[in-house]
Amino acid sequence: MNDKKKYGFTTTILHQDRQKPIEHGSLHKPLHTSVAFGYRDARQLASVFQGREPGFRYGRQGNPTISALEDKITAMEDGVATLCFATGMGAIGAVFQALLRAGDHVVSSSFLFGNTNSLWQTVAGQGVGVSFVDATDAGAVEQALTPDTRIVFVETIANPRTQVADLARIGRLCRERGILYVVDNTMTTPYLFRPKAVGAGLVVNALTKSIGGHGIALGGSLTDTGEYDWQRYPHIAPNYKKAAPAMWGMAQLRAKGLRDFGASLGPEAAHHIAVGAETLALRLERASANALALAEMLEADPRVARVHYPGLASHPQHALAGQLFRAYGSLLSFELADGIDCFDYLNRLRLAIAASNLGDTRTLVIPVAHTIFFEMGPERRASMGIAESLIRVSVGIEDCADLLADFGDALSDPGPAAAA
Ligand SMILES: *Cc1c(COP(=O)(O)O)cnc(C)c1O
Repeated sequence: MNDKKKYGFTTTILHQDRQKPIEHGSLHKPLHTSVAFGYRDARQLASVFQGREPGFRYGRQGNPTISALEDKITAMEDGVATLCFATGMGAIGAVFQALLRAGDHVVSSSFLFGNTNSLWQTVAGQGVGVSFVDATDAGAVEQALTPDTRIVFVETIANPRTQVADLARIGRLCRERGILYVVDNTMTTPYLFRPKAVGAGLVVNALTKSIGGHGIALGGSLTDTGEYDWQRYPHIAPNYKKAAPAMWGMAQLRAKGLRDFGASLGPEAAHHIAVGAETLALRLERASANALALAEMLEADPRVARVHYPGLASHPQHALAGQLFRAYGSLLSFELADGIDCFDYLNRLRLAIAASNLGDTRTLVIPVAHTIFFEMGPERRASMGIAESLIRVSVGIEDCADLLADFGDALSDPGPAAAA
């Protein structure tokens, strides 16, 4: 089906590999594990290395299995090119490594995945100024901009408190100022939302989460949407300006971020992720419906103090999320009423598993302040809106009635802690 017709999201993923010839007519791109590649002759080796001919050089910079996954993600995000990394953090780290220099300034949402927050502290120690702002308010982003601001970084739905960034207004602001807009789309994935639609230049996806979807492989990606004019970026080295300007960013990210930094995705992981991605839409429809039902049940229960889920009318960005996203996603968090110990509660759950991943087919729960946000301390947690008793739920694709019963039954038995 080597045609230009626009197919739906899932059809496109299922048939993406066949857009290019596949060895032996395989229906899946095969798993290539070779680190090195042979050439017609030594001259061809040189021209591949010099970028005069397409081809693979060395496994760290890419291989056919990974490149097939990159094409698939590019199609999913409607972008121009994608680079895969060993993890989501590898992809985010590559942005900093390849594009920022001492003296630059970055504006970042303060509602962030914990390790991204930690990475920003590292970057700040290397001479890059970082301002954390409330990204639900584009005005706060605008106020934080300086003449040295190179990047604005936000998450679509923040993990774990589910704040929704003012994505479209921030996009317009970045476009006016020529600033690179980087959006971490992990919580929404390209099925629920395409950051390209709000002017993002680079999109981050932690493939480990919903795209791979089964908790069996780590991976990350950066997609260039074609929305950013790289001629406006001051630090593209002459070496990476040989092709058309649309390719400059990816050329530098591939060399500086992937080749030099070395956080390369393994081919086995790429294969797992590519297979998982085929059912992304089905899984997210189901998990989002489960999450909404669970959020509604918890919110109606007096033993629950607060529920954070963009699908609830009580969520501060409920209307915005409804305009931007196809569904409200599989992540929610909640706080139990005073007197109910969150550890006792988690221990009473029979289906939901206490574990730290997200976007798995199984429902996973975690006490946030005591685990993934422990290192940053109570003050920074408070500034990010993380209550000490907050429980994050990554809702899976179990049968809805089973999930509701599990979370409901665990509330009904208050256990010895509450009785005391
Ligand atoms: C998990 C996650 C990451 C990092 O992905 P890894 O593959 O675990 O390194 C980045 N951003 C968000 C929003 C995430 O949830």
